[in-house]
Amino acid sequence: MTEFKRDGSHLAYCPPVEKWDDWVEYDAAAWPRRVEKHYQLVPTICFNCESGCGLLAYVDKATGEVAKFEGNPKHPASRGRLCAKGPATITQIHDPDRILYPMKRSGPRGGGQWARTSWDEVLETFGTRIRKAFQEDRGEEVMYHVGRPGHDFIMERTLQAWGIDGHNSHTNVCSSSARLGYLLWHHADRPSPDHANARFILLLSAHLESGHYFNPHAQRIIEGKMAGAKLAVMDPRLSNTASMADYWMPSYPGTEAAVLLAMAMVILGENLFDAGFVRNWTNWEELEVDGFSARGQSFEAVIEALNRHYAKFTPEFAERESGVKAEIIVKTAREIATAGSRFASHLWRGSASGNLGGWQSARALMLLHVLTGSVGTPGGHNLNAWNKFVPRPFKNPPPQKHWNELLYPLEWPLCTHEMSPLLPHFLKEGRGRIEAYFTRVFNPVWTYPDGFSWIEMLRDEEKVGLHAALTPTWSETAWFADYVLPMGFSSERHDLMSQESYAGKWIGFRQPVLRVLQERQGKKFDYTYQANPGEVWEEDEFWINLSWAIDPDGAMGIRQWFESPYRAGQKLTVDEYYGWMFENSVPGLPEAAAKEGLKPLEYMRKYGAYEVTTDVYKLNEKPVAPADLSGSAVEANGVVTKAGKAVGVMVDEKAVVGYNTPSRKLELFSKTMADWKWPEFALPEYYRSHIHRAAQAASIGEPATDFDVRYAPLVEWPKDAKGDVFTLLPIFRLPHLIHTRSGNSKFLYEMAHKNPLWLNPTDAVKLGNIDTGDLLKVHTEIGFFVLHAWVTEGLAPGVVACSHHMGRWRLNKEDHVERMSSAWVDLKEVGKGQWKMRQLSGVEPYETSDPDTQRVWWSDAGVHQNLTFPVHPDPVTGMHCWHQMVRVERASAGDQYGDIFVDTNLSFAVYQRWKALTRPAPGPNGLRRPLWIPRVHRPEEAAFYFSPKDSRMG
Ligand code: SF4
Repeated sequence: MTEFKRDGSHLAYCPPVEKWDDWVEYDAAAWPRRVEKHYQLVPTICFNCESGCGLLAYVDKATGEVAKFEGNPKHPASRGRLCAKGPATITQIHDPDRILYPMKRSGPRGGGQWARTSWDEVLETFGTRIRKAFQEDRGEEVMYHVGRPGHDFIMERTLQAWGIDGHNSHTNVCSSSARLGYLLWHHADRPSPDHANARFILLLSAHLESGHYFNPHAQRIIEGKMAGAKLAVMDPRLSNTASMADYWMPSYPGTEAAVLLAMAMVILGENLFDAGFVRNWTNWEELEVDGFSARGQSFEAVIEALNRHYAKFTPEFAERESGVKAEIIVKTAREIATAGSRFASHLWRGSASGNLGGWQSARALMLLHVLTGSVGTPGGHNLNAWNKFVPRPFKNPPPQKHWNELLYPLEWPLCTHEMSPLLPHFLKEGRGRIEAYFTRVFNPVWTYPDGFSWIEMLRDEEKVGLHAALTPTWSETAWFADYVLPMGFSSERHDLMSQESYAGKWIGFRQPVLRVLQERQGKKFDYTYQANPGEVWEEDEFWINLSWAIDPDGAMGIRQWFESPYRAGQKLTVDEYYGWMFENSVPGLPEAAAKEGLKPLEYMRKYGAYEVTTDVYKLNEKPVAPADLSGSAVEANGVVTKAGKAVGVMVDEKAVVGYNTPSRKLELFSKTMADWKWPEFALPEYYRSHIHRAAQAASIGEPATDFDVRYAPLVEWPKDAKGDVFTLLPIFRLPHLIHTRSGNSKFLYEMAHKNPLWLNPTDAVKLGNIDTGDLLKVHTEIGFFVLHAWVTEGLAPGVVACSHHMGRWRLNKEDHVERMSSAWVDLKEVGKGQWKMRQLSGVEPYETSDPDTQRVWWSDAGVHQNLTFPVHPDPVTGMHCWHQMVRVERASAGDQYGDIFVDTNLSFAVYQRWKALTRPAPGPNGLRRPLWIPRVHRPEEAAFYFSPKDSRMG
C-alpha cells in the first residue's frame, strides 16, 4: 500500500511494473472503511479504435474477474493515457446483452430467430462450403470483409494461404481519399506527423478529440503547444479541437485545397520556400504544365512556371471560395514558412472523405510540407511506413494469382482500397455472387451509406450464399447473417498492432487476459474460448482451425501454412505464431527479454508493448546498400536501377534510397496521373466539390458562377422539391463513441446518445425561426430523415451537421439486440425498393443481471442518417464522398422523430451517375492499375495485366 502524503505525491499516475502482480487499492464502495482490494495487472491493447493504446486490465484476485481497465505506462505511444473509450472496455465485457455463444439462424434470413450452435458445427459448415468453392475454381466467391482490423498481416497471410483475392475492407468509406493524395507524393499513404517537436501545427481534423491515432497524437500536439507551437484548425465546425486553436479557420466544406494552395502561393510568391529542399527532393525536372516543359530548363524557370500556374490562388480568391479571411490565410502561411522544417499537419477524414476531389486537400497540404522542407524532419511530416513495424511470421504463402473485380473493378484503377460501398450495386449489376461471406467487426447496414441496398443484398440467398458475422455485439448487419460468431473485446483475444504514432516504431500485443492469468497459474487451454466468457473466441484461432477444416489432410496445400514451426505437421498455436515472430522478427526484443531472464513471448505478455526504435527521420537520405549499388546503373533522371528495378536516386552526387515513387523523389508532378487519363491533375489542384455553393445553385436551376462547376448536374431535385438547400456534414465523430460498437457500453451512451442537426442561427431564421428542439425534415437525393434541430454558432452558415454516431435501431424489442443504444423500429418495404422506418420506442430501462440497465434515464437513440445517403464514389479515388447536398424544412404534422424513407431505385440511379464520371482501366501496357501504387493483399504481378477473357466486364 502506498503511504499517504499531504502533497499528493502518493497518488500513483500508473502503478509501477514491479507491483503489477499484487497491486493494492482501497475499495471505493466500502468508504469510509479502508478495505483493501488486491489486483493482478495484465497488459493488453485497446480495441475501440485504430490507435492501439495500451490498457492494463485490473483482475480482482478475490473473484478472478476483470474489475477495470486503465492505461499501460509501458506502452510507448499512449504512455499510460487513454481516452474515454479505453476504460469503457469494462462495460463492454460485462454487458448483459453481449453475444456469448455461436448462433445460427433458425428461421428465414433476417427473421430474427436464432439457436445456439457449436464451434465444431461452424467450422464443418464453412470448411465444407469453402472447400467446394475452391475445388470448383470459385475462389473469388469467398470474401472476408473487415470493419475494425485491429491486427497486422494475419488476414493477408490467411487469404493468400487460401490462394484467393478475397480481402475487402471499409477503407473506401473512411480514408482512401487522403491516402491517394499522400501516396502520389511519396508512396506512403498516411502521414506520421512529429507534433511534439513542431513549431506550427495545422489540423484539417478534430485531432485532439477524434480521428486517426488521436490519443497518441493529441498528447503530442499538446506537448508541442506547451513548448510554444502555434495550432491552426481548418474545420467548418467549432470542434473541441478548434476551440483549443490559435487560429480557427471555418472553411466552407470542400474548399480546403483552395486555401492550402493560396498559402502555398504566399510562400512561393514571397520567396519564403526552402529552395534547396525543393531542388534536391522533388521531381521538378519532369514538370509539364500549361504548355511549359521543364526539360532543359533551369530550376528558377520551373519556379516561375509554378508561380504562373497557381497565380489564380490569391488569398482573396481563397476567401471567396472558403469564407476564411484573406489576412488569416496570409498570416498563417507566413507562420508556416517561419516554422520551416518544424511544420506538422494532419488530415485524414473530414475534408478528404467528405468531398468529390477531397484527395486534393491532402495533395495540396503536402505541397506546404515540400515548400517548407518539413518532410522527414524533427517536428515535420514523416511517412507512416517509416514509423510502423509489422514483423513477419515464420513462413509466408506466395501472392494469389487472381484479381477479383468485385474488389478492384476496372472503373477505378487508382483507388487505393477495395470499392466496398458498391458491393450491393455490383451484385445487382450481375458482376458476381458470394458463396461464403465473412463480415468481421463490420456493420455496413448501419455504417455505410445506402444501408437498405445492403439489406436487399444480404437477404438474397442467391447473391450471398452463406454469411457469418464475426462480431462481439449484435448489430443491424448481424441480424441478416446466417451465423453470428462472438469474437472477443480488447481483453479476450490476441492481436499484434503497430501504428505511426510518433517518430519511432513500436509493437503492441493484445492478449486474452483471463487465459493468460490462468496459464500463469498452470492451467492449460487448447483454445481461448475455453477461458473467455461463454464461448467467445478470437479470430486467430478461428482462422487457423477453419483453414484445417477446409484442407483437413493437407492435399490442397493450404494446411501447411497453419502448421507449427516447431512441431512438424501439428496444428499451429497462437503462442507459436507470436512466439516465433518475437524471437525472430523483432530487432532487439530477444535481447531485451534476455536481460530480464525472459523469453520474448514472456516479455510481451509481461509488458504488452515494445519500442523497436526511436528518432526515425529522413530515411530517404539513407545510402543505397552496397549490395544494391554493385552492378547498378544511373538513369538519365538520376534514378539508380539494378536489374531493371529502382533502388535509389542520385542526390548531391550521392546514391541514396529516396522515396518509393517512380522518380524516387517527392512527386510534385505526377506522370502517373497524366498517363492514367487525368492529365489535369498531374499537379496538386483545387476543384469544386459536389456540394459547393455553385453546385447547390445549379441544382435548383440558378446559373453557375465563374469558376468551374465540374459536377454540378450530379444532384437533381424533383420538380416539387421543398426546403432550403444546405451542405450536410454527416461524419464528425464524438470523442467518446466508437463507430458502431459503443452500443453495448453503458458509460459511453450515458455520456452521449443524441445526434441533433446543428444549424447556424442565421439559417434557423431563414428556415422560419427554428428553435433548438424543433422537428426538421432533411431530404437527401434518395429519401428523407426527421430529427431535432440544435441551433448553434459553432457551425458556419450554409452548412448543417449531424454526428456520425447515433441512430442505432433494432427490429426486435428484446431478444438478440443491443437495448442500451437502439430504438425499436417498424421497418416496412412499402414498394419495390421503397423502405419506410418508424420508431416504436426509444431507449427504455430494462431488467438484466446489471442493475444499471434499470437506471437508464435517456430515451433518445438518435436518427440513422446514413440510410438516406446514396453512394458517391469519387471518380478518381473511389472514396465515398460523404457530404450531402440536402434540403431542410420544418417537419409536417404527420412526421415523427426518427422517420426515415428511402428509395433504393434512386440510389442505384445515383450510383450510375457517379460511375459515368470514371476513366476506366486498362491503362498503359494493359495494366489494371499502376504497378508502383500499393495494393492491399497484393496479387502476383501478372494479375495486374488486364485480359478480357478473365474479366466480368470484358
Ligand atoms: S484512442 Fe481511445 S479508443 Fe483509441 S485505442 Fe486509445 S484509448 Fe482506445
